[in-house]
Amino acid sequence: MSASYDADNIFAKILRGEIPCHRVYEDDNALVFMDVMPQSAGHVLIVPKAPSRNLFDADPAVLAVVIPLLQRIATAAKRAFDADGVSVMQFNEAAGGQTVFHLHFHVIPRYEGTPLHSHGRGMEEPEVLAANAEKLRSALAALN
Ligand code: 5GP
Repeated sequence: MSASYDADNIFAKILRGEIPCHRVYEDDNALVFMDVMPQSAGHVLIVPKAPSRNLFDADPAVLAVVIPLLQRIATAAKRAFDADGVSVMQFNEAAGGQTVFHLHFHVIPRYEGTPLHSHGRGMEEPEVLAANAEKLRSALAALN
């Protein structure tokens, strides 16, 4: 039997406003906020609001709405952080690298020859996360 969704996971708490985050964007379908342990400056998470554990139990209709948003956030992140490229990552179950069990997508600015910091390495300073969220919000607002 597959594992079930736990409504007390950390992203569910963030979605309910019980835990703060550095918010970049929000609409009816998704919340976008900075990863507290960035693998590169500007590492941001796209979190669909619909409760699902990961890709395996996600509603395809939710994915259809989230991917265009992911495209916009990746474009904004590349511009905001003057990146050479962007990695999009998405992990499923512990064996697949997942540590928070609410579906989410990572958008990570990348630079030629620069490896990523390790996954869940250490907390970034709140002021840095706030400044990076502001950069992303500005770049998003400037997109067509
Ligand atoms: P996963 O391994 O599940 O794909 O990634 C979960 C991500 O969530 C990690 O990159 C980790 O740094 C991030 N994360 C864990 N706890 C929190 C939190 O409380 N707030 C935020 N903004 N990010 C978190």
